[in-house]
Amino acid sequence: MCILSPKLVECGRHRNIETITYADVLDVKGEPGNFRVSIRKRARFVDETLCTGCGICQEKCPWKADSEFDKALAKRKAIYFLYPQAVPNVPVIDKELCAYFQQGKCRACEKFCPIGAIVGVQMLGVAIGGAIGPLLGGYVFDVTHSYHFAFMVSGMCTIIALILLAFIRVPRKVLN
Ligand code: SF4
Ligand code: SF4
Repeated sequence: MCILSPKLVECGRHRNIETITYADVLDVKGEPGNFRVSIRKRARFVDETLCTGCGICQEKCPWKADSEFDKALAKRKAIYFLYPQAVPNVPVIDKELCAYFQQGKCRACEKFCPIGAIVGVQMLGVAIGGAIGPLLGGYVFDVTHSYHFAFMVSGMCTIIALILLAFIRVPRKVLN
């Protein structure tokens, strides 16, 4: 890791490189210079744009399992960083282990996260919106031969979302 970590950090910070993590490559087509790659992005349940990598969630999580990275010589939590200095420095939630996903209770990580970066249902809405938005936009263009109506609806949705944002509860502060 001493050699690899700086390279990973360099890639993560490079302005011309988009890193897609916690994802599986499903298919690669094409040739050098013109590849088309199909990936499946898995749900992290943590907002990568908000998370600061503070590690409080991992510290507070009560559930443990063998660490795959450490070949079961150490334990990791249900919400965890794969290894120290992971790129991006954002944890993931292991659904199979997490008490909330398995038993519907706990949410300690969400309560202790100081900035409200742990999300779930919210990202489902984002994913559904992202999936159907382009389809609806294309349909509107086919029918009206213009994107004006689609842009207008999109603008109105953005305004409604901004108004609703004002009513979202303030993330609970770290208690200790
Ligand atoms: S909700 Fe799941 S990931 Fe979060 S603290 Fe509880 S067991 Fe850990
Ligand atoms: S507590 Fe919140 S900000 Fe800190 S590492 Fe966990 S998800 Fe990220």
